[in-house]
Amino acid sequence: MTTIASNLQAVRTAIKAAAAGAGRHADDVSLLAVSKTFAQAAVRDACQAGQTRFAESYVQEALKKITALQDLPIEWHFIGPVQSNKTRAIAEHFAWVHSVDRLTIAERLSAQRPAHLPPLQVCLQVNISGEDSKSGVSPDQLSALARAVAKLPGLKLRGLMAIPAPVDDVAAQRLPFAQLRELLDRLNQQGLNLDTLSMGMSHDFSAAIAEGATMVRIGSAIFGQRE
Ligand SMILES: *Cc1c(COP(=O)(O)O)cnc(C)c1O
Repeated sequence: MTTIASNLQAVRTAIKAAAAGAGRHADDVSLLAVSKTFAQAAVRDACQAGQTRFAESYVQEALKKITALQDLPIEWHFIGPVQSNKTRAIAEHFAWVHSVDRLTIAERLSAQRPAHLPPLQVCLQVNISGEDSKSGVSPDQLSALARAVAKLPGLKLRGLMAIPAPVDDVAAQRLPFAQLRELLDRLNQQGLNLDTLSMGMSHDFSAAIAEGATMVRIGSAIFGQRE
């Protein structure tokens, strides 16, 4: 077995354990393998080991991999900051975008989504307390953005994503994930029909699963440390 295959197996086992600990089914937690900065061969290895959902953060790098790996049955997710001049490439080449945080970007993605493809699956990135990056819509502007994005014909709004600042303590890790879940619940109470909580990375996915994550985005625990 390759290192990547055994890492994947360990991650899947840990996801099962976290789901069981939370009284959830492991099938309700989808594993997204974050392959940014890693070579095509690493993606091939992971795919060989049964992994089909992969995520990238940089458009140029992603397009090279997507082209080179066209023979594989991969579903590509974009999780990096979305710049206006990259929306067309994202709309044309990805199945999902997790990092939409403003309406102008959502409108471009919708307009540029090719008609022969299904709607682009979208999560809104939320800047919850303690968020590391400056990206993400603020919680008080989330509802208006969600209602506007839900109306765009080229997009299918699926849920929310967040990248909390890294902390070691599991109880502390759970707080922002619980906040994101509450925000999703509130949007659903307002009549939206959202099913996705994209939260949890290599260091905190167990806490995220305990708080209801339906998609965990895991890079280094599968592929090794990035440079
Ligand atoms: C890089 C990245 C990940 C994966 O991080 P790891 O710590 O390597 O698991 C997850 N989500 C986003 C948005 C990322 O940029």
